Amino acid sequence: MSATFAVMSPATGRSVADAPDNGPAEAKAAIAKAVTAFETWRRTTAYERSAILRAWATRMLASDADLARLMAQEMGKPVTEARGEVRYAVSFVEWYAEEAKRVYGETVPSQAAHKRILVQPQPVGPVYAITPWNFPAAMITRKAAPALAAGCSVILKPAEQSPLTAIRLAELWVEAGGPADVFQVLPTSDPVALSGVFFDDPAIRKLSFTGSTEVGVKLAAQSAKTMKRVSLELGGHAPFLIFADADVDRAVSEVAASKFRNAGQTCVCANRIYVHDAVHDAFVERFSAVVSALRVGDPLDEATQVGPLVDAQGHEKVRAHVDDALARGARAVVGGKGGEGLHFQPTVLTGVSRGMRILEEETFGPVAPIIRFSEDEDAVRQANDTPFGLAAYLWTRDLSRAFRVAEALDYGIVGVNDGLPSAAQAPFGGVKMSGVGREGGKWGIEEYLDLKFISIAL
Ligand code: NAD
Repeated sequence: MSATFAVMSPATGRSVADAPDNGPAEAKAAIAKAVTAFETWRRTTAYERSAILRAWATRMLASDADLARLMAQEMGKPVTEARGEVRYAVSFVEWYAEEAKRVYGETVPSQAAHKRILVQPQPVGPVYAITPWNFPAAMITRKAAPALAAGCSVILKPAEQSPLTAIRLAELWVEAGGPADVFQVLPTSDPVALSGVFFDDPAIRKLSFTGSTEVGVKLAAQSAKTMKRVSLELGGHAPFLIFADADVDRAVSEVAASKFRNAGQTCVCANRIYVHDAVHDAFVERFSAVVSALRVGDPLDEATQVGPLVDAQGHEKVRAHVDDALARGARAVVGGKGGEGLHFQPTVLTGVSRGMRILEEETFGPVAPIIRFSEDEDAVRQANDTPFGLAAYLWTRDLSRAFRVAEALDYGIVGVNDGLPSAAQAPFGGVKMSGVGREGGKWGIEEYLDLKFISIAL
């Protein structure tokens, strides 16, 4: 491999390092290795796979400072937050190191006295995984850990913006005793050309993708050619409903944490904040004070809370959403403009209403649009009025309202007085255009298992 591409820091605009630039020839070679490796890996015991996964987790934790630094450099996540991501990434490896041992089959009563029905879960086969840049470590382990635990081999294509963390994870896998051909990482500057080889090859039995809905829809269609199983973790447009009886102070701190994490570039970031008339003004005042105090800066600085956006395209989208809202009558109570380089000022917009772009699309930036409401039913209707269905949040002290609204929200994940509903043991994923399948928990490993029905006549 001689070709490389430069990985650019969004904070400095300078190259951080060169990454190997893989193309179709390397993709074919990697598939051949993954197919051979699968035959051996699938026959290891769950206990052997578990031991390697545990060793991998230990090595990741021991490298948390290095991994966090790489993330801060290649995609701009503040380094303190990036260390948190390493722990989150490791939690999936630890969970699936255990879950590997709990892939149970079943026996089913037969209608014929001389027959026995067995149901055996089997690894689906070699997996092609594609991940985004916004969680350079966790989006990888959320796929690779259950796939490897199930007995699949994995070829992972990281995002062009964040290949360095992925390469380091593959090195740690090998240091942990994992076979190199069982988990391969293939960075590329041309994801379309590289991926085409995988979609055409029937030996790849599964696509696991995390990224935008637009790309996910295309890849699902391409996967159909060779009838691959698919898991798709796509875009979100999370509503955050704050009812009249909410604990406003807690809601303020949790909306801020949800909204400004990773500079607003997560699929579950609060994107539309609906606040009841009764608490609207108090919420806006306290929230604005918290947002104004956020420290924007160099992602490598331990004090930074909000780093730059990942690239010029992302920055332009955020600016366009804010400009559109302001032109249509919204008011920037805090921020409202770009900052130095790829930074964007943490922004609070009030007077946001239907028809503004910011309420239609994922902004993926540090902008909090606030919408006033007076009727609960209307707020729920507005929250559901979107093609997306990943995460939603609601704030109330009333148990009946909490259940009523949580059940009415058309989303895969609902946080009730909880701005961070994400855990390795729980099912993460969306409905509608936010995707297909779940990552995490006992459900996450099922995505990498096929069921074989064995019928035995005695
Ligand atoms: P993206 O869809 O542009 O890219 C994601 C990945 O797909 C990258 O690795 C990219 O190289 C690859 N890719 C793009 N076009 C491709 C093609 N035609 N063929 C093959 N590969 C292709 O998304 P992004 O900007 O990197 O990530 C942000 C998006 O990801 C947001 O929409 C966000 O909501 C979503 N996301 C979802 C989840 C979730 O769990 N649901 C988690 C994180 C991010």
